[in-house]
Amino acid sequence: MPTSGYIPCFYCIEYNRISTDYPINNANYDREEFTPRCFLHWEYECSKCGKKRHFNGISWCSTCKKFTCLFCADEQMQKEEFLIYDYYYKIPCHECGNYNPALDFAEYEGTHPFQIGDIKPEEDIMIWMPISRDQMKPQEFPHKAWGLNRILSLGKFVEFKRLDSLDGYDPKSTWDTIAPTWAPQFSDGGDYHHKYKILPEVYRLLEFVKNEKILDVACGEGNVARYLAKQGVHVTGIDISKLIDFAIDRENKEKLGIQYLKLNAEHLASKFTKASFDKVVCNMALMDIENYKSTIEQISHVLKEDGIFVFSITHPAFAWPTCTSFRVPRGSQRNEDKLRLILNYFDERPTLMDYGHDTLSLQFPRPISSYLNELVKNNLVLLEMSEPKASEELVKKFPRNAYKDDDIFPDFLIVKTIKRTKS
Ligand SMILES: [Zn+2]
Ligand SMILES: [Zn+2]
Ligand SMILES: [Zn+2]
Repeated sequence: MPTSGYIPCFYCIEYNRISTDYPINNANYDREEFTPRCFLHWEYECSKCGKKRHFNGISWCSTCKKFTCLFCADEQMQKEEFLIYDYYYKIPCHECGNYNPALDFAEYEGTHPFQIGDIKPEEDIMIWMPISRDQMKPQEFPHKAWGLNRILSLGKFVEFKRLDSLDGYDPKSTWDTIAPTWAPQFSDGGDYHHKYKILPEVYRLLEFVKNEKILDVACGEGNVARYLAKQGVHVTGIDISKLIDFAIDRENKEKLGIQYLKLNAEHLASKFTKASFDKVVCNMALMDIENYKSTIEQISHVLKEDGIFVFSITHPAFAWPTCTSFRVPRGSQRNEDKLRLILNYFDERPTLMDYGHDTLSLQFPRPISSYLNELVKNNLVLLEMSEPKASEELVKKFPRNAYKDDDIFPDFLIVKTIKRTKS
C-alpha cells in the first residue's frame, strides 16, 4: 500500500542521531500517525502464530529460517545499551529453542535477516550495516526517558526533575525562595484549588469547635490558621520556611491571637508537650516534608487521645510528579484535549517542581500506602478519606478548571484520623 510523497521513518531518524551513517528510509506505514515507519521498522509475521508483530517484539532464527514472536515464547530481558535503548528481548526460536535477539538488537549487531541475506526485503529500502561501536554517539536520552520525552514534546505544562540525591537542595531553602511569590496568592483564601476543593473538605473533616486547641503543622503564610482563629479556635502555627514571616507580619496587624513558631515539622516534640492539642491539621504540606515518618510520629505525640488529625496532600496517584499532563494538539484549550500520563507511582526520589515564575519547590512523592501505614504505626485510626470532585456548580462556574478535569479524577487526597492508642 505504498503511497506517494516522502515522509522519513521515525526509527531511522532516531537511529541516525546515534550513528550518523544510518540511512533514513521513506515511511510507507503509519504515515498518518505520530511515528511513521519504513518497511524495515514495520512488522514481521511470526512463523508460529502467523500474526504480524512490531519488529522489536520478534526474533529471527537463521538456522531454522523462522520468526518467533514474544507472544509465542517466553522472552528474556537482556540489559545492554544500544542505539536509543537500554535493553532488548531475547526470544527463543519456537523450533530449535535457541535464543535470538529481537530485530531491533539484531539490526544493531548486524544479524537482521535483511542484513545477512536470509530474506530479501519486498520493498526497496536502504539497509545499514553497523560501524564499530566506538564511532557511535552516546545516547541522547536513556530509553526510560526517551519515549516519555517524545510524548511530552506534544505539550506539557509543569516541568519537574527527579533528583538522585538532595545534594545542593534542601526543602527549607526552596520554600524560602518561593515565599515572596507564593504568599500573596493566599492573601484572600488561596487559589481555585484551595478555595473550592481542598479547604472546604479540610474544614468539614476537622469539625473544629470554639476554644479548641489546634496545631497547624507547616502553616505556611497562615491561610488556614487565620480562618480557624476567626472561628474562635486557639491556633498554633509552625513552619520552617520564610513563609511564616508573612503569617507573623499579618498577625501583628490583625491580632487574631495566633501563636506562630518557626519550627521544623519533624521536631514538634522539642517545643510541645505530649497530648497538648485537641486537633492537628497539616494542609498541603506532607508531600513537601522529607521525613514524613517522624512528622507523623510527632503529630501523634502532641495530639490528645481521641484527638483528630486531618491532612491534605497532592494526590499520590494522579498529580505531579507521579502524573503529568499534556495537550494534544499542543495549546488546545478544550479539556478533552488534556491528557494525563502516569509516569512512576513508586518513584520516591525527591523532585524539583517548576510551576513557572522562576520558582522551584522540592517535593517528596510517595505511594498512598506509605502514608496510611505510617498512620497505623502511630495509632492514628482512619475515619474518612476524601478525594474532592468538582461539583456541577463548580463546573458551571469554572469550566476551564473543572470540566473533564477535576470532575473526572482527583488532584488531592484528604485524610481524617483519630488517635486511639491501643491499650
Ligand atoms: Zn526505518
Ligand atoms: Zn507468534
Ligand atoms: Zn531455530
